[in-house]
Amino acid sequence: MPVETELYDLLSVPSNASENDIKKAYRKKAKEHHPDKNPNDPGAAQKFQEMAAAYEILSDPNSREIYDEEGMDGFTGPGGRSGGMPSDATDIFAQFFGGGATFFDFAGGPGPSRRKGEDTEIPYQVTLEDLYNGKSVKISMEKEVICGTCNGTGARGNAKPKECTLCEGKGWTLTQTHIAPSRFGMMRVKCSECNGEGSKIREKDRCKKCKGEKTVKEKTRQEIFIEKGMPDGHRIVLAGAGDQQPNIPPGDVIFRLKASQHNSFERSGCDLLANVKITLSEALLGFSRILITQLDGRGVSVSSPPGKIITPGQTIKLRGEGMPTFKNPDQRGDLYLVLDIEMPNTEWLRRVDRAALEKLLPPKKANIEPAPEIIDVAAFEEAELEDVRARCFPASSDFFDEDFASQFGGGDEDDWEGDDDDDDDDHGMGGEPECRHQ
Ligand SMILES: [Zn+2]
Ligand SMILES: [Zn+2]
Repeated sequence: MPVETELYDLLSVPSNASENDIKKAYRKKAKEHHPDKNPNDPGAAQKFQEMAAAYEILSDPNSREIYDEEGMDGFTGPGGRSGGMPSDATDIFAQFFGGGATFFDFAGGPGPSRRKGEDTEIPYQVTLEDLYNGKSVKISMEKEVICGTCNGTGARGNAKPKECTLCEGKGWTLTQTHIAPSRFGMMRVKCSECNGEGSKIREKDRCKKCKGEKTVKEKTRQEIFIEKGMPDGHRIVLAGAGDQQPNIPPGDVIFRLKASQHNSFERSGCDLLANVKITLSEALLGFSRILITQLDGRGVSVSSPPGKIITPGQTIKLRGEGMPTFKNPDQRGDLYLVLDIEMPNTEWLRRVDRAALEKLLPPKKANIEPAPEIIDVAAFEEAELEDVRARCFPASSDFFDEDFASQFGGGDEDDWEGDDDDDDDDHGMGGEPECRHQ
């Protein structure tokens, strides 16, 4: 009887199930629990990946044996199996150093003392739309798998590896090392001759397919699930999907999400921020139209309260229009819209009855009273403030740093506008939504 049966339970098979039964059960379960088929179950992706991990371990006879004997502790916990390490190694050292000396373990690198293969971390670029809507992606990748010709021995036919003469089969050698200015200690290092394995296959006995390497490269397809609301930098772990090596369970493949910058939205946790342009008449007389296209393609229509004048830069909050919460996608953050007022252009002014307009608008400002004794006249000259700042205050040029400018709550309109083809034309009421996707 295995010490624990959780992995078998995940696949709903008895612990004495055959390899074929396990494969069949996994295929059936994977189909049933595929997150694409369970869009309303936020835990589906997790369940699916757990089953994939259970299958990874149980489908490999070596790792299944470790699991049956020691449970998950056999892979990670204390007392986990240590591959080909001689079990009496610590006794040998206790004698050697009289029990009290310092010694060091193998100096890293691949060797039989490790319990689990190395994890592979892969950055994966996602869009804000992906994180908003969720998505499953199939990824082709190459990984090392146990050579099928030699079953991971690296040897041809029945050829047996010969004991390494340098380390006499132990896999390590001793070397003297400084542990303090006046103290020497002995350090065991991986045997350079046999790469820590204690034995070597003679060149003529090597497996033709893997050339004695024990593993070969194979193309595989992995499916990852980007769940709604996953944070930027989130790590999706495919347990046991890493490179295979004989006698140790494979490491994990980890996809680290990297969100690309969006043309219209910025994200801060569950909240979103976007800039929207409204016209001068909308600012004065109100609006009722689609202000923005959401990340799922919906238009979001907003009406301003009657009689309300919108001031430049005014921010409004669209409750519940933010990002879905990770693991609880029905709960959403808020969407903040900064309303920029687009002034009419000179073309419009040429056609309008200026005298009538002046009567309609609030009066111009009068000169200050009492008038100063001296009044000089200066010319009206247009300028770009950024150019002036960059020239006159070079020390503070990091103020204009792009990273700085695009922070939540900061930035100029260029950071918000995907394209500038709407800069020149003059929006009437009910113009098109400001947000476009590329
Ligand atoms: Zn081989
Ligand atoms: Zn050796």
